Order: sequence, then structure tokens, then C-alpha cells
Amino acid sequence: MIHVEQHGPVLAIRMARGFLGRPLAWTTAYWVDGLLIDTGPRCASGELLKVLSQVPVKQIVITHSHEDNIGGLEDVHAHFRNAPIYASYRALNTIQEPTRLRLQLYRRLVWGVPKAIKQVRALDDVDNTLRTSDYTFRVIETPGHSRDHISLFEPTHRWLFSGDAFVGGVERSWPSESDLFSVIGSLQTLMSLRPERLFPSSGEVRRNPRPEIAEKIASLLRLSKEVSRLEATGMSVDEVVTCLFKGESSLRLWTGGHFSATNLVEACRSYNALMVATSDDLAGVPSARLRRAVASDPPDSSANESADRGDMVR
Ligand SMILES: [Zn+2]
Repeated sequence: MIHVEQHGPVLAIRMARGFLGRPLAWTTAYWVDGLLIDTGPRCASGELLKVLSQVPVKQIVITHSHEDNIGGLEDVHAHFRNAPIYASYRALNTIQEPTRLRLQLYRRLVWGVPKAIKQVRALDDVDNTLRTSDYTFRVIETPGHSRDHISLFEPTHRWLFSGDAFVGGVERSWPSESDLFSVIGSLQTLMSLRPERLFPSSGEVRRNPRPEIAEKIASLLRLSKEVSRLEATGMSVDEVVTCLFKGESSLRLWTGGHFSATNLVEACRSYNALMVATSDDLAGVPSARLRRAVASDPPDSSANESADRGDMVR
């Protein structure tokens, strides 16, 4: 399935495998002024080519090397041989050898398996800047969802093409490879750019996205703090999952454990292990271990924590 929306000079090309007439999971490629940002899943590459036959494709850039972003690359490259392909240097190996993705069955079925592409260049080769006739896009490193993730920012119009660095809604499950600390850091980076239009992989284009990004950061911090509180009462990970999410959803089963609430709690634990707990965080937690941890904090750690947290939710 394919659905095209126009946002000024930007085309949002949403693609998905259809099942019983409904999309399984949308992924969006964007086209602006000859630049194609991502190529959608392989299962939709034929439909993507029909759309692209109406416009010039002079450059291709990949936000990250997941199968729903690089799946159409081989077919697009075959039709636009002169268009250079760019990605983070961290993504090159996977794009050149997609078996590195080790796709679970559900990913093969929902999006298809990408073919290998050798002709891909690191964005460092162009100083992390992509120029079209009318626009200049700055590459912004936004790891977390994947290690090789980049976003593109156009400062004149304050357009932000964010791939999967921003995913809307409240988290109830988490993919095993995503890193919460980096996700939050990248969201803060996106906030700091003061974007006026957000073009995410979901295809749900946002005007004035900062409040939603701020709320996303705040919700992840609240969740991490809640995990910390529950752990401090002696709960196991399974008990925390039950307490916060009433157990696992069917997503864990469908994805073979790739997405799960357990992964989300573990991601929060990894994040918390990097952060310094404060007495404010621990209010109401009857834990001798945590009270001892607070008491042994260095004198300036509370001030640092307070400043960081305040910046995050502002
Ligand atoms: Zn992704």
C-alpha cells in the first residue's frame, strides 16, 4: 500500500504491506527538491518507483539501516543510477550486507528482506551536509533507536526529518537493541534545534513539535523514575512489568520477544544505572540501600541532577 501527501515542497510517501485491506505498519520516505530521504520497505518498492517516476531523484539519504528504511534502496538505485546514496558510516556495513540485521520472522513478513547495496557513501564524505537546488540539510547524529541513526535539519524553514528518533505516544514495549539513554539524549538534541515542522518515519507530520517532543522526554523520565522506585521496594523485573503494564502484551509473542515490556523495564534500569539518584527522586521510597546511596552522594551531584532533569522537561 502507498499513500502520498504533499506538505509544501515536501512529499510524504507512506508505505506498508496491506493485510485484509489495512496497513500492517506504515513507514514513510520523504522527497524534497530531488533528495529522497529513506526508501521504505522492500514490499512496497514497486509502488514507490511509480511515485518517483513523477519526480527527479538526484540524491538518496538513509536515516538508519532498518529494513523498513532501506528495503526499497536496491530498486530505487536501479532506476536512478546517478543518484549518490548516503548514510552514517555506522550504517554502511548493514546496508552493504543486510543479513547483519538478523531479521526475526515477523520483520521479514511485515516489511520484507532488503537486498545488499554496495554503492553507499558515508555522510562524512560531504561534511555531514546535503545540498539541493533550494535547500541545505545538516546531518544530526541521533542514536538510540539504532546506533547508526541520523536526522536531517533544514535551518531556514526549521524542517526536521527525524526518522525513528522520535516515535509518538507512550511506550509500553521496547525493542531489545534500542538504548534509552541515547534515545533521550537524541530527543533533547531534536528539541534544541527548535524545529517548526517534524517529518518522522511514521508519516504523521507535525507543526510546532517541541511540546510533543518535550512530553515524550518527560514520559520516559517518569517511567525510568517509577522503575527505580519499584525496584527499590524489592520488586523483580517481572513484578515491575506486572505492576506498570499488567504484564506483557501480545506484541511480545508476535515479535518473538523483540518488542516487550520486559525490554522496556530493562532499558529503564540501564538508564537509571547511569544516572545519579537524588533524595527528591527517592521521596517515599522506604529503602535503606537507596537512602545510603543518597547519603553518600558527592556534594554537588544533587545540583547537577536537578539542572539536568529541569532541562529535560522544560
Ligand atoms: Zn527503525
